[in-house]
Amino acid sequence: MLQYRLVPVNSPKRESFRQDLVDQGLVIKTEGLGKTYFLGAEEVHALCCVNLEIRRGDYLAIMGPSGSGKSTLMNLIGCLDSPSAGKYWLAGRLVSELQDDDLAAIRNKDIGFVFQTFNLLPRVTALRNVELPMIYNGTPSDERVARAMQALESVELGNRMTHKPSELSGGQRQRVAIARALVNSPSILLADEPTGNLDTRNGEEIMALFDNLHRQGNTIILVTHENDLARRADRILHLRDGKIESDELVSHSIHAPS
Ligand code: ADP
Ligand code: MG
Repeated sequence: MLQYRLVPVNSPKRESFRQDLVDQGLVIKTEGLGKTYFLGAEEVHALCCVNLEIRRGDYLAIMGPSGSGKSTLMNLIGCLDSPSAGKYWLAGRLVSELQDDDLAAIRNKDIGFVFQTFNLLPRVTALRNVELPMIYNGTPSDERVARAMQALESVELGNRMTHKPSELSGGQRQRVAIARALVNSPSILLADEPTGNLDTRNGEEIMALFDNLHRQGNTIILVTHENDLARRADRILHLRDGKIESDELVSHSIHAPS
């Protein structure tokens, strides 16, 4: 027998998941998102009134001066922190009202993080580092190893799986971190200054990998200080004093070979 339950049209249950956002291809939607920190008697309005829509497959760069709210926004998008105001839907689900345990589960499933400092475990192999997110979500060990190997091959580190981070170059370490970020097939890849600790050549290697991941349909949000890197995205968001100052599409003109 088919069982069902009717939910009133304006109930919180309907609000907590919105299929229309998914149907429109929106991975992220925020309405009036804000974050205020309290430091003793002082209120710091780190982020205010952010209305943002990000589609599946978008490649967005976030720029802005130091203190403009970039990391605060990344932390909210990445479900590392809860907003003080506004609403946030991730893959159709209203996450702004969730508590720590639910946020941790969503982080593991839906968000891939890449940090400036790689954040790899130093004493274990590349393979084991990439297995980690799957250990947290209880994936069986043979499947874990197979998927970690596949992820490392996809970042062209198939021949470095048993190396520890200290036995890899900076660019290779960051590629291990990217494989780890992708291994649970997240809805979005968040990268906060991913080339900040790399020399030009290794940085280019990582940016080329992002270009490739974008072409394959991944949704990427990149925080960067550098105009040249931001221009590789298809959209640039500028923050200032915790607010969106501009939100512009990048036109990638095709140059004929001279
Ligand atoms: P950005 O990443 O663009 O440099 P942040 O998002 O880190 O900026 O910071 C935005 C503002 O919020 C800054 O004024 C910063 O000092 C403040 N801020 C960030 N984190 C905290 C915190 N945990 N407690 C208090 N103030 C904070
Ligand atoms: Mg920052």
